[in-house]
Amino acid sequence: MAAEIKSDKVDKVISLCVRRGILFPNSEIYGSFAGFFDYGPVGVELKRNVEASWWKRFVQEREDVVGMDGAIITHPAVWKASGHVDAFADLLVECTKCKGRYRADHLLESVLGVQVDGLPPEKIKADMEEKKIVCPKCKGSLAPARAFNLMFKTFVGAAEDESSQAFLRPETAQLIFADFKAVMLASRKVPPFGIAQVGKSFRNEISPRNFVFRCREFSQMEVEYFVPPRLLDSCRYFEAAKGKKIQVLTAADQEKNAPQSKTTAGDARDKKIIGTQWHAYWLAECVDWFEGIGIAPENLRLRQHTKSELSHYSSETWDVEYLYPWGWKELTGVANRGDFDLKQHSKFSGKDLSYFDQETKQKLVPHVIEPSFGVERAVFTLLLEAFEEKKEKGTDGKEEVKTVLRLHPAIAPVKAGVFPLMKKDGLAEKAREVFEMLRGDFVCEYDEGGSVGKRYARMDEIGTPYCVTVDYDSLEKNDVTVRDRDSAKQVRVPIAKLPNVLSALLGGTLAFEKAGAAVK
Ligand code: ATP
Repeated sequence: MAAEIKSDKVDKVISLCVRRGILFPNSEIYGSFAGFFDYGPVGVELKRNVEASWWKRFVQEREDVVGMDGAIITHPAVWKASGHVDAFADLLVECTKCKGRYRADHLLESVLGVQVDGLPPEKIKADMEEKKIVCPKCKGSLAPARAFNLMFKTFVGAAEDESSQAFLRPETAQLIFADFKAVMLASRKVPPFGIAQVGKSFRNEISPRNFVFRCREFSQMEVEYFVPPRLLDSCRYFEAAKGKKIQVLTAADQEKNAPQSKTTAGDARDKKIIGTQWHAYWLAECVDWFEGIGIAPENLRLRQHTKSELSHYSSETWDVEYLYPWGWKELTGVANRGDFDLKQHSKFSGKDLSYFDQETKQKLVPHVIEPSFGVERAVFTLLLEAFEEKKEKGTDGKEEVKTVLRLHPAIAPVKAGVFPLMKKDGLAEKAREVFEMLRGDFVCEYDEGGSVGKRYARMDEIGTPYCVTVDYDSLEKNDVTVRDRDSAKQVRVPIAKLPNVLSALLGGTLAFEKAGAAVK
């Protein structure tokens, strides 16, 4: 039995990412650019699979959610109305000696070794002063903390002055609010319905850290789900979702330093832990999607924002948190934004963003539940979750440490590796035929370099669920060996049946043992 090693997991995952072309720091040849990352060939497939899985689940499979794709640079008035110009800021502290700049809450957290999520800015400021926190680099004194706006500024047009200043969007959500009326009319939807968007967002984070967990350019996957206020507690899908098992840490639990508890979405709503049915429903959906692409339920919990932590637009926010090696942290946020955004945009644009509600025969501004996901954070989390090292005896009898990414087949970057046992005797030609047959339907990799064991190891490292080997028997019997990444078991499958078998295995409708004759 392979023994599991758990140490320095984050460093190992990052080094795997760099080595195997998953994700790496941007512009490394110039010494890299903090907070910016590039995806390599394997990573881009993984990213696209995560986005595709999300889009399928939250847009294409639903009748009540439609998509859109807004501009990255948008009218600056959007950000004034949304409150980002005035309030989208973190607390910054600067060293009076070396001029090093730090995010106050992060510094406090790392120096005191405590969780600061939920602390109000005034408390963070006071704690910084009371604990006499100094510059971690040069021990110089720190100037009082001040707000630092996180939006990247740019200029549009030939003039470079205040009149032409614009911002790179710090979230995708506001584009949806600004286009709410247009999309609603074009899609002939009425609330309750949602608008979804996947795309880049930019935040000039003071201290980007933990690899892509906090970077300056990232992608978001967001749904703004519009609900008439009278229906907030009447979700038409709740019956099906209410049994979903969840772990919750309420604001009250945090005050008492109590741990999270296990419950269901239905119970959490009945006991008024979660404010409305639609909110409880979307939280359950988020957890269910993450579990469906490979995150273990015990590594996910829902943490309620404390009163002082709530954003200016939110009446209730829950984070879907993941148990990272550095503690529980936000993976995804689900806020109840009320009617704040549509009302603000109405006010600033002078356009009526209400709709006519047929049932109450009234003009209404819908309320919004917003599940907001970060792509890079999801990708990194899935990699951390899937990463495993095992000790195995090599052919020479010596113990070797092997890396396996146990990625869910739906998001695995490469679905199958195709190998000839040897390059000679027509095996390579036959393997190429198999590869050509499969590659139209699946992302496959052809590999004839090194021993088959080495080729398996290369595929395991990037999470390829299945490997197909063409051997001498294949020439006679027209079949191949298919090897399962997780069990290392092998079955023999006729080449003609291979596309269907692979498709069923990847889709989870066929157990590996039933995929073909077992190879001893
Ligand atoms: P945090 O508290 O971690 O800064 P946030 O509360 O500011 O996050 P939201 O504004 O709720 O984040 O953004 C929604 C999602 O976008 C987050 O749950 C996260 O997955 C992602 N996200 C936000 N900021 C970043 C970032 N700097 N780098 C990577 N992903 C991010």
